[in-house]
Amino acid sequence: MAFTDGVEGLSVKEGLTSENLDRVHPELQDRVQSLATFAASMGYRIQINSGWRSYTEQNYLYQQSIARKSKYPAAKPGTSKHNGPETNFQYSLAIDINIIDSNGKFLKTASYFNIYCQYGAYWENLPPITVNGTDYYPEWGGRFSDPVHYGYRTPKLTTQLPSSCGTTAPLPSQVPIIVQSTQPSNKPTEVAAAEVAAAKTICAG
Ligand SMILES: [Zn+2]
Repeated sequence: MAFTDGVEGLSVKEGLTSENLDRVHPELQDRVQSLATFAASMGYRIQINSGWRSYTEQNYLYQQSIARKSKYPAAKPGTSKHNGPETNFQYSLAIDINIIDSNGKFLKTASYFNIYCQYGAYWENLPPITVNGTDYYPEWGGRFSDPVHYGYRTPKLTTQLPSSCGTTAPLPSQVPIIVQSTQPSNKPTEVAAAEVAAAKTICAG
């Protein structure tokens, strides 16, 4: 069962393949599900717009970036957390997420940066994961002009979130990590047309 099946408040951008999703690191998959639950508690939904990327997919984004045709910068193929160099390219250590309101409206990162900040704060308070003997720490892309990006890095961050986030962040430690139930669900996972139309940005980091 795909990790996006039957999770409240979680949908997937049209065009992503099962490989793009299934090759997101398993622990990261669990945390994205928790993020969806966190979002639902605030009346929002989240939409995955990028997960694991092949070399070809990353190269496309990279070429778009250097041609200045994309909103966000893109790393060279083989260096992005989305490619998974730390996992021998098997699993992505990053995922890109749009936030959507109850009407299916995509929240633009520039206009709703404070809301994205709350998800960033939640993310960065999660514990590290260990990959090939190294601890990787959560990092929100809002630190580097990429607020749809949620990834892992090493070493641990030592600075606070951007001051532009203000003091609106909740206390993420109060929100537990919720591991997906193995029970099947009959919830639909189709992406609403409005969400597809709204999700026009992609992190290329
Ligand atoms: Zn990203």
